[in-house]
Amino acid sequence: MTNTEETSAPASPDVESPLAHLSAETLDRLAEEFDAIHDEVYASLGDKDRKYIKSVIAAQRQLVVAGRVILFASSSKPAWVAGTACLGMAKILENMEIGHNVMHGQWDWMNDPDIHSSVWDWDTASTAEAWKHSHNYIHHTYTNIRGLDKDLGYEIMRIDPKQRWHPVYLAQPFYNALLTVLFEWGVALHDLDLESLWAGEKSPTQVLEELKGIAGKAKAQFVKDYVGWPLVSAAVFGLAQVAMRGKLPQPKTSRVAGLLRRSGRWGAGADLADRWLPGVEKTFLSTLLADVTANIIRNVWAHAIIFCGHFPDQTYTFSKREVENETRGGWYVRQLVGSANIEGSPLFHIISGNLGYQVEHHLFPDMPSTRYSEVAPKIKDICERYDLPYNTGRFGQQWWMVHRTIARLAFPGGKERPKPGPYRSSADPTGEVAPSEAARFRSRMPSDHPAAGPEHEGGGVAVDPPPR
Ligand SMILES: [Zn+2]
Repeated sequence: MTNTEETSAPASPDVESPLAHLSAETLDRLAEEFDAIHDEVYASLGDKDRKYIKSVIAAQRQLVVAGRVILFASSSKPAWVAGTACLGMAKILENMEIGHNVMHGQWDWMNDPDIHSSVWDWDTASTAEAWKHSHNYIHHTYTNIRGLDKDLGYEIMRIDPKQRWHPVYLAQPFYNALLTVLFEWGVALHDLDLESLWAGEKSPTQVLEELKGIAGKAKAQFVKDYVGWPLVSAAVFGLAQVAMRGKLPQPKTSRVAGLLRRSGRWGAGADLADRWLPGVEKTFLSTLLADVTANIIRNVWAHAIIFCGHFPDQTYTFSKREVENETRGGWYVRQLVGSANIEGSPLFHIISGNLGYQVEHHLFPDMPSTRYSEVAPKIKDICERYDLPYNTGRFGQQWWMVHRTIARLAFPGGKERPKPGPYRSSADPTGEVAPSEAARFRSRMPSDHPAAGPEHEGGGVAVDPPPR
């Protein structure tokens, strides 16, 4: 299925993107300003940043250990809830603040052989290799260009009125709900890019190779989450039960005993199973359920953050014609108005992989995520001076807009929603930026910015903006 064809109706002039009003000179100046912000951060990267990512990785591993140990007692409800919460949070951190960002090459400057985009792999269904191509290169280079950015509706949804309607979209609210729960599998299949196969750009052998990669990841997840850890939990409970001489609380009957009795031959074995196995069986099943739940928690969260960063009403999409001969400045502006931020607390930003700063992430995909909050006021300042919008909103607002669009555009027609005007700091409801901040930044702005920082050739940063 394709959602890349456009309707013949031209976009109404009131939704023409801000790009259309910027002269080549202005775009060049913008490129210089954005480059300067990037370079200033890269020149200042150091121990504080290194400590941050190492401590997040350590915290994530501690959460996994805590979750696994608590789940040894998963047959008790409070332990199940606590263990599942630890595990769900660990998976969220692992995917969002660690996996996505490390694989973008945000930490490659450390030259740490363990925390590097070329070697990192993550606990999700997509292989690192396929994901780095479809996300780092395709999505981040061709952001919101209809027909080129395959993340625009993930090729299964109509999220822009300019996409031609097809009856299959009637079902999109339902398969979006399904995608929420199974997000990692949806992304893995999406990374396969079957459309390239139909178009003859990809060979069946290559697709088969990539399918094998996904099958390998699926096997790893099943063996670890759905067999291995439930068995470990069950074994620990069994040993504890023996040590306590059968005094640990457990259900009265064993499922295995039931099977043995029905077979009619193992009466004595069934009595033994009834005495020792009910708790073991319950622990196995409840750990299995905890692992399924933790994976779903991570999927629902990742889906929400990613959709809210790309599909709220404020974002613009672009035709291929609009971005012909795009300059570096044009690329930056497209990233700026093609994504949307989500406002939240520092903890919210950590567990969303700092993708609440989706705008800053799209401007600087290789910048360590922890610096996005620091550069956000500078981006707002640029927006204010160049009359550009700065797309942001509360989580609930962005979420509502995304789902309203998915529901409305399931049906034919649909109009562009109004877009925000140029950013004005005095109107900033968060009060995050006092005008003095902008003034302070302007006075610090280097007239000629230094060469690139210690960024080195890495395997992960494949985003390809026009050169300086
Ligand atoms: Zn990204």
